[in-house]
Amino acid sequence: MRVTGLICSRKAMRRQLYPLLIFMTLLAACAEPESTVTATAITNVTVIDAVNGVRENQTVVFDGDEIITVGSSSPELSVAETIDGSGKYLIPGLWDFHVHLSYDDRFTDYMPELFLSYGITSVRDTGGLMHKILPIVEKMRAEEAVAPRVFFAGPLLDGNFVVYDGDSRPEIGVRNATPDDARSTIRDLKKQGVDFIKIYEMVSPAVFEAMVETAQELELPIDSHVPLSLRASMAGPSVDSIEHLRNIEMDCANNAPELHETRLELLKNPDGLSGADLRSSLHSLQRLPAIANYDEARCDQTLAALTSTIQVPTLRLGALNIAPPFKRDDWQDALSRIREDAREDWIETSAAMADNPIEEFTQFGQWALFLVERMHSQGIPIGAGTDTPIFISVPGYSLHSELEYLVRAGLSPLEAIRSATVRPAEFFSLQDEMGTVDVGKRADLVLLDANPLENIANTRRIAAVVSKGRLFTQNELSELISAAHAAELRVQ
Ligand SMILES: [Zn+2]
Repeated sequence: MRVTGLICSRKAMRRQLYPLLIFMTLLAACAEPESTVTATAITNVTVIDAVNGVRENQTVVFDGDEIITVGSSSPELSVAETIDGSGKYLIPGLWDFHVHLSYDDRFTDYMPELFLSYGITSVRDTGGLMHKILPIVEKMRAEEAVAPRVFFAGPLLDGNFVVYDGDSRPEIGVRNATPDDARSTIRDLKKQGVDFIKIYEMVSPAVFEAMVETAQELELPIDSHVPLSLRASMAGPSVDSIEHLRNIEMDCANNAPELHETRLELLKNPDGLSGADLRSSLHSLQRLPAIANYDEARCDQTLAALTSTIQVPTLRLGALNIAPPFKRDDWQDALSRIREDAREDWIETSAAMADNPIEEFTQFGQWALFLVERMHSQGIPIGAGTDTPIFISVPGYSLHSELEYLVRAGLSPLEAIRSATVRPAEFFSLQDEMGTVDVGKRADLVLLDANPLENIANTRRIAAVVSKGRLFTQNELSELISAAHAAELRVQ
């Protein structure tokens, strides 16, 4: 039990055992009369996480940002607040493992509250220019901020041609024409505090290699698209996570070496296309033909090279046509939580998609579900990410769609929960601190009204969210979103 503030948490005590002098000071401080009991207990709750499985009738106590007891008997602790968890289910706080906080200004200001309202207590930002993302991160990490934990990469590290160059698409990529450029870019990003790097699609093999070497030297985890200049089986083993399943289809085709040779020629860009157009032309040329040429034995070789690389399939994006969000009953409610101009825009986009679904997109969606099933059955780790807010992805809401897609692709509900809890923690080597409901772990939790193992859609039935040790009821979270919208309107 904490009696004098954070400094007396057990973890703080363990970490500060030496020097002895500090320890003695701490003991003296902690022995002072009990004045500020701050712990919260959730009683009689069914605890579910991907490592311990299901534990019934548990009492979970957290104090500040730390879980201090988990057990079937009531601990002898004074607590400031008790939440009756009877008939409820407690899971670790969820991650959205692929977000863009700075991509669309119509979302940035209230995304943190929106994420929390859907039980997302950690996010990994996979691409944004430093001058935009740094202030956002700083705000989210401020002492009293109501915001998920945030981990960020800075810009997409692209090659000589840049896809997201601010011309036809938002500017979130930077150019790395040579290996030396790549090394200095990454060293500079490290100095500015990024948590990992994100390698994009147009890098050359030499630039890719320099990026991997430099990131490893600086102990930065590596997220990547499969660069078009490489094959998935070449790039995969060098990086820690791969996004969108993209370009893996090209390595699963019976003519994969030939496709690769063709790409290498076209990447010289004889027609002088923009980065975005060059990439699109290669996708159009090779994606669906590669899927049509699927070769199981060759694909198994590719997948065998990916067993230590977390795959973040973003199915809610890639397979959107299979189960579009705008056909769901709760879509209107989700839309009501975003800013009006974005809402109107998305209603239009959704209507166009509903009227005229693009056949190629549906085909890729079916392939994506099939590939995730193959990957999962071969032991490839899967991470849950959405690419929100890109392409009608309501922040937070869409992560639950992603979990449903993962179950549709063959993961069990518990495995889907693993993909949004334990896997992201592993990417950052934080599995000792996050991802399960255990003593000593950080206090990020989601209290559900229904059992997510019976139906993964029950992760949407959120009664309360604990973020960094602060408990918010669903009503409180709704109010926070309204307040964030109101604050934004005042600024406009
Ligand atoms: Zn993205």
